[in-house]
Amino acid sequence: MTSTIIHGIRSLVTNEAALGQPHDPLGAVEDAALVVEGDRVVWAGREADAPAADAAHDVEGRAVVPGFVDSHSHLVYAGDRTQEFNARMSGRPYSAGGIRTTVAATRDASDEALSATLARHIREALRQGTTTLETKSGYGLTVPQEARAVRIAAALTDEVTYLGAHIVAPEYADDPDAYVAEVTGPMLDACAPYARWVDVFCEKGAFDGDQARAVLTAGRARGLEPRVHANQLSYGPGVQLAVELGAASADHCTHLTGEDVDALGQGDTVATLLPGCEFSTRAEYPDARRLLDAGATVALSTDCNPGSSFTSSVPFCVAIAVREMGMTPDEAVWAATAGGARALRRTDVGRLGPGAYADFAVLDAPSHVHLAYRPGVPLVTDVWRRGVRTV
Ligand SMILES: [Zn+2]
Repeated sequence: MTSTIIHGIRSLVTNEAALGQPHDPLGAVEDAALVVEGDRVVWAGREADAPAADAAHDVEGRAVVPGFVDSHSHLVYAGDRTQEFNARMSGRPYSAGGIRTTVAATRDASDEALSATLARHIREALRQGTTTLETKSGYGLTVPQEARAVRIAAALTDEVTYLGAHIVAPEYADDPDAYVAEVTGPMLDACAPYARWVDVFCEKGAFDGDQARAVLTAGRARGLEPRVHANQLSYGPGVQLAVELGAASADHCTHLTGEDVDALGQGDTVATLLPGCEFSTRAEYPDARRLLDAGATVALSTDCNPGSSFTSSVPFCVAIAVREMGMTPDEAVWAATAGGARALRRTDVGRLGPGAYADFAVLDAPSHVHLAYRPGVPLVTDVWRRGVRTV
């Protein structure tokens, strides 16, 4: 197999603690190189120590970071919510359409249209350095509609989440428990073959703690691993439920009690923070500092969706997390790469050491700190995925 050395790296984030200075979780290496064979990294370290390779690619003094791992998006959708955003940002009331607007448009869209929209967003994210992207169903809310959503997603990404429990389907507005029976019964049967994860929006107006537990335990019994939309809009049982059930991730974590923070600090469930959502709804940001100080593992993701967070830019989320949420640039970059990988229970992405996929972004900057220091600037110049330069 042909090997390629990527060299001339001014600063390399590996997320391999053993490769960097003591007590640096980023495992940062200066004047570094990477050796890639096939789709994998086979060596990382100081360029002066690099082994010989068959081919060479010089990044000319730029920084390299692992490809971003965006562990939370909702991109199997159709329709447009520009007017809703415009109304919200203009201080005008808007009808309580929300997710239901997207559900109606999605149900009317063809498979081809849904697939093309998802592919366009994956490409848009890739251009910004995202090499692993999770996405969810949740805008169909009937058995055939949810099943086609996860099937379409599974054709384009490995990380597919079944979110039949996004909101109660409009047809079941008067009988939410009957909808939960649908979600945990025939809809789960139809979706499980295409999904890795089961998720529920545990929130007032969506699903309560008992309903969320039913959804997650039924999914787990069918081999899906739980993750939870938890404590986004209000205090509630989502985080505690996620930790109790051993969910991979509790997502949002905006309204947390001390007990919630302690549970995340002591458990294995990752706290996935989605600041694009608070940005786009003018809400208060989650307190990343409080979670980190309690020992929680924090991930940063976009929550990219047409309603509450229509950004696919992980660097934008990194910049907000540093400016508004008490994270250091190092912590935010770790959270957007290794943290996202933890939230998806992946060890083959989110790091650049031997055995990992050769997924990385080249920055037109000397250091990863510029992702926060130069907000809004398109610093990602090249993206390699699975050992191939794709951007
Ligand atoms: Zn979400």
